[in-house]
Amino acid sequence: MVDTPAVEEPFSPASGRTNPADKRTWFGHPRQLARLFTTEMWERFGYYGMRALLTLYLTKHFLFSDQQATGLYGGFTALVYLTPLVGGFIADHYLGSKRSVKFGAIVMSLGYFILCFGGETARPHATIDGQRYEVQVENFVDRPTSSGEEVRYVVTPGERLKIKGNEDGSVDLLRADNSVAKNLPKGSFDPGADRNGLFVALMLIGLSMVTVGNGFFKPNISTMVGSLYDQGDRRRDAGFTIFYMGINLGSLFSQLLCPFLADAVGWWAGFGLAAVGMMFSWSLIQFDGGRLAGYGERPEHGDPRKDWIVYGAALLAVPVIWFLFTNLMNYQEPEPGSGIVGYVLSLPIMGKLLFGTFLVGVPAILAWSYFRGTRVEFQMMCAAMVLIIFNVVFWTLFEQAGSSLTLFADRNTDLTVAGNWSISAGQTQFFNAFFIVVLAPLFSLLWNGLAKRGLEPSIPVKFALALMGVGAGFLFLVWGSAFAGSDFKVALWWLAGLYLIHSIAELMISPVGLSMITKLSIARIVGMMMGVWFLSISVAQYVAGVVAQVASVETVGGQVTNLQVSLQTYVGVFTTIGWISIVLGAILFLLSWPLKYLMHGVK
Ligand code: GLN
Repeated sequence: MVDTPAVEEPFSPASGRTNPADKRTWFGHPRQLARLFTTEMWERFGYYGMRALLTLYLTKHFLFSDQQATGLYGGFTALVYLTPLVGGFIADHYLGSKRSVKFGAIVMSLGYFILCFGGETARPHATIDGQRYEVQVENFVDRPTSSGEEVRYVVTPGERLKIKGNEDGSVDLLRADNSVAKNLPKGSFDPGADRNGLFVALMLIGLSMVTVGNGFFKPNISTMVGSLYDQGDRRRDAGFTIFYMGINLGSLFSQLLCPFLADAVGWWAGFGLAAVGMMFSWSLIQFDGGRLAGYGERPEHGDPRKDWIVYGAALLAVPVIWFLFTNLMNYQEPEPGSGIVGYVLSLPIMGKLLFGTFLVGVPAILAWSYFRGTRVEFQMMCAAMVLIIFNVVFWTLFEQAGSSLTLFADRNTDLTVAGNWSISAGQTQFFNAFFIVVLAPLFSLLWNGLAKRGLEPSIPVKFALALMGVGAGFLFLVWGSAFAGSDFKVALWWLAGLYLIHSIAELMISPVGLSMITKLSIARIVGMMMGVWFLSISVAQYVAGVVAQVASVETVGGQVTNLQVSLQTYVGVFTTIGWISIVLGAILFLLSWPLKYLMHGVK
């Protein structure tokens, strides 16, 4: 066997050896892509399976209010996209990509496993005029899908009174004969729940481990894909498209299966399947049979004796992240009238950290490019940063999927597919993955076809279309909501339509964005710019949590008190964000001319 040195890649610390057998291909691509494809497919199986359940788990098992659940969800997903900054750095300097991926896989899998331990359902209560009362829910099932027949009561000394939410936000307490015993004006009925602190802590530790594990896994498996191709290899973009298909193939199945198991068996089974999928991912890369030899190896200056320090430090990050989550959950809204300064000061630590890094990082990198780069380099960097800022808007809307849109599916969507057959709220997330798998190859053909005729839209135009698309998706659902029946439920196909439009928009921005960064960035800081790209997605996840909080509706015992009010709330928020995104997309469209100039021929 003749050893030939591996090709050095700009993003890969890979420095090992390849052998002639590597010349064999898989769909015309280096055969290692197959193993990275399946490894990532199973990792995303775990992540998206968990994501399909998380918001419902927080609102229906732990009985958190929408405000708390979506805030925590936003903070969690923000950290999921922030930790890759550190994970990428550690791989470059210490572990190498492959070891990082293996370690990340184990930590994530443990995280999902810990989520299986949820303890008993939280016990609901309500505070009325400063007095605390027990709340009973009849026909309650502690599963992702509610029975639909729940009846909630406030237990007062003497009698139990049925809780009925009114359109004006007030709450009626009804006697057994349906006469009104008490009308509580808006705001005077304050629902809450008692939770077992141990299981809340376990859940937060599970989520912390997922963020840490993802930081090690996600950026580095992508780096390994990049390292399969020589610089200038025309197959690189196609390779990433195939990889993106793997991502969505994995998430497609788990978004159907994990909610199914959680409904049929219990929450633990849904999260358990995510953990099993993740272990499968780990075994694929751990026992690769030498298929990935020479790729993602430890950097030459990396010292194996430091590995345990890295692993230890990663585990120490778990309590730190846990603290950030707790800080986020204890968030108190600022006093009205405290202004923008008051708002910023009142932000949870995580919010300050994310916005601070972004707002300081972006101008600082531009200033550096101005002084250190040529004029052309500086202009290209400016173009990249403008696109990165618009990227925040896209993901803010898109990422409503796991939070407000899942709650919308649960509450205000008629989930019937045909006859008696319906899907569950968590399962509606599968539409996105499904459309990506179907459309990604078509889009590849489309771009190629247009490129041959010189008609392929420029990157800023694709970004602008993506922004308008993600906004239009929401307006499509808003349109559909006008046809909601007297049960205030919108037909499933409107939600599916939103996901179809969102998936088309995703294909215009997500794979395009990654390659755009590598093309526009000054070469020696391309790693950092990739980090800024992830940071922009991270900021978006956080803002997405805030938007979903605005779309919060009042719940008692995990159920909304009035479906008409919840539909109105969702429609109001979706209309606003839909139009904002369309207007910003139109502005970017106009900016595409100056941007094209600044991009100096990059396509
Ligand atoms: N769905 C893709 C993934 O999971 C992209 C998500 C994103 O970049 N926000 O990798």
